[in-house]
Amino acid sequence: MSTASINGWCLSSISPAQSSLKRATLRPSFYARLNSAASPPSLIQNKPVFAAPAPIITPTWREDMGKDSYEEAIEGLKKLLSEKGDLKAVAAAKVEQITAELQTKTADGKPAFDAVERLKTGFIHFKKEKYDKNPALYGELAKGQSPKFMVFACSDSRVCPSHVLDFQPGEAFVVRSVANLVPTYDQLRYSGVGAAIEYAVLHLKVETIVVIGHSACGGIKGLMSLPDNGSTSTEFIEDWIKIALPARAKVKAEYANASIPELCGHCEKEAVNVSLGNLLSYPFVREGLVKKTLSLKGGYYDFVKGSFELWMVEFGLSPHLSVKDVATILHWKL
Ligand SMILES: [Zn+2]
Repeated sequence: MSTASINGWCLSSISPAQSSLKRATLRPSFYARLNSAASPPSLIQNKPVFAAPAPIITPTWREDMGKDSYEEAIEGLKKLLSEKGDLKAVAAAKVEQITAELQTKTADGKPAFDAVERLKTGFIHFKKEKYDKNPALYGELAKGQSPKFMVFACSDSRVCPSHVLDFQPGEAFVVRSVANLVPTYDQLRYSGVGAAIEYAVLHLKVETIVVIGHSACGGIKGLMSLPDNGSTSTEFIEDWIKIALPARAKVKAEYANASIPELCGHCEKEAVNVSLGNLLSYPFVREGLVKKTLSLKGGYYDFVKGSFELWMVEFGLSPHLSVKDVATILHWKL
């Protein structure tokens, strides 16, 4: 990894005439009148999923489990109950077991994944082991959040930053996307990312923005595999990962003889640097860097080796740079 490319950036053009860094406000530009008597859309139900009537999942019958065998089992239990009333609890448990078995097997007899059950047990575990054991923390979080970090991480299910960096609730404001990319300032195409950065920097006043890349990133592999003729075959993915095209160009030039996996490894880190550079196109990020209330860091999590790298980014910025100035210096096309 080369960090010289980012540590070397020193944006110091001074032009007092361009000192009007805009501060966004949250004042809405229009108001919508709501009819207070209106009922919510029918698809939105204000009740917990876990309280939905059972069974949520339609039982799947195994081929070798005919209707007769099930009915025979139930009949057997009924007979047992009539003969021995004190076995009622045992019989009820047996019925529950058979029913659960029917519901959790696929047609070929393999266990079926029960999404609702997984979510339910997951929340129960969290509630019991964490929420109920930390009333001070969750009481404080009920009043508001004041995270020190904003984190950009990949959507990859293996790289959750809260797990990898042991962030506790309230510590990190997280944006996850394919290949953990930060696009340049664009109010039309990437307003979701812009809104998150604006909120984190201006309102939550995070102190550090960390962009974290990772090993074996599918998004970066896709980037390195893009056809040179510019053709695309996806609705969104290729357009999104093209944000990191400068990283691809750089590693291809620097490691001309490297294998694809090696190129991907280098690109996973260079793409982080591209994102860090792109953060400079947001005026409130630049302002935070100039005032030293904000710092930018790059990170890389290798889940094959179980290692984590962190690198610092030093920017010498003038508060008077416009987006156009930054774009010119970093050779962006607006
Ligand atoms: Zn990834």
